[in-house]
Amino acid sequence: MDVNSHAEELASDLGVDKEEVKADLQNLLEYSVPIDEAKQSVRRKHGSGSGGSTPTPDSVDVDEITTDHDGVTVTVCVLTKGTRTIRYQGDDLTIREGELADETGVVSYTAWQDFGFEPGDSLTIGNAGVREWDGEPELNLNDSTTVAIAEEPVEVDHEIGGDRALVDIEAGDRGRNVEVRVLEAESKTISGRDGETEIVEGVVGDETAKLPFTDWQPRPEIEPGADLRIEDVYVREFRGVPSLNLTEFSTVTPLPDPISVATDAPRLSVADAVASGGMFDVEVVGNVLEIRDGSGLIERCPECDRVVQNGQCRSHGDVDGEDDLRVKAILDDGTDTVTVVLDDDLTAEVYGGGLDDALSAAQDAMDKSVVADEIADSLVGQAYRVRGNLSVDDYGATLDATEFALADDDPASIARAALAEVGE
Ligand SMILES: [Zn+2]
Repeated sequence: MDVNSHAEELASDLGVDKEEVKADLQNLLEYSVPIDEAKQSVRRKHGSGSGGSTPTPDSVDVDEITTDHDGVTVTVCVLTKGTRTIRYQGDDLTIREGELADETGVVSYTAWQDFGFEPGDSLTIGNAGVREWDGEPELNLNDSTTVAIAEEPVEVDHEIGGDRALVDIEAGDRGRNVEVRVLEAESKTISGRDGETEIVEGVVGDETAKLPFTDWQPRPEIEPGADLRIEDVYVREFRGVPSLNLTEFSTVTPLPDPISVATDAPRLSVADAVASGGMFDVEVVGNVLEIRDGSGLIERCPECDRVVQNGQCRSHGDVDGEDDLRVKAILDDGTDTVTVVLDDDLTAEVYGGGLDDALSAAQDAMDKSVVADEIADSLVGQAYRVRGNLSVDDYGATLDATEFALADDDPASIARAALAEVGE
């Protein structure tokens, strides 16, 4: 925008003569006053806005906020608001959190008291603290922060409100609303910080994806087959995938029409799946390169279920391990590799026998590794379609298989397709 356009905009806002405003602006700009400050000065001169809601000269654009700032003033539109209780220094505090935006960008916020604003409100927020959250600056709205309705609505290009399809849900999201069908729901008693607590865990789905959830305040509406609108959930990573969390502040409303749920998992290249950082219910196709140590006949700790090596559990030391079956296979589709983990049932399928068969085979050979060897003989070099839940951590990507089947497609064409994708 040039001075002329700024002057025109200001003049129409203030209802004064454009030439007069332009002269004022030019005068200030000659003294190297930044344009935003110059405009505010002209506004003040013409008496627009009085009291606390006038942006102060230290107001900043959202994309300028850094953790070096403190006590910033921004004029923003509220995109989302979530409510939850956190324990802070021994006290339960109810906080509001979500995202704010102006035309330059989006910033997340935590409000330590209820300022009463809602998504869609345009606000001038004064003296907000800035801290780092999830690697980004976040505004902290506290006792010394002022919140006032902005003089003019803030127009933004972002979606206002927390409605999202499941495929767009990410760990760290707050104040999200989803419309889903409950696919699984199971009550569990956990020992939390306030003693024994009943929670409900399960899986919900929509047209785009499925995600696990935890309801920390179990309510009867959440049962398999129910079609629900769930408002105000927060999302955190659980076993490597995003998980919806329902709190006392979440609301659950039955929907009149059924939600259709994707029956197929999205099929991705291994590279794309790994790049997502973790996915619930995804499908990949690739060749088994090798079977890793810790496959076949294994022993688990009776306390924690971890795999025991040489009679030693990492947490519980010397234990009497319980026999189990498992496969850890390296799958490669030409874009990347992933470790596929088969549980006891899937392992029994590929081995062609259950735990008792494996134990007697090991006994006959006087060697446990015969089970893993036999599995390797049948899997390595073959192409498989694998569906399951993908988690990614510092040690690599792991796909906990729910389905593991020989690929219908010819492996060579899969490899060509994978290579073509790499070449993109
Ligand atoms: Zn253990």
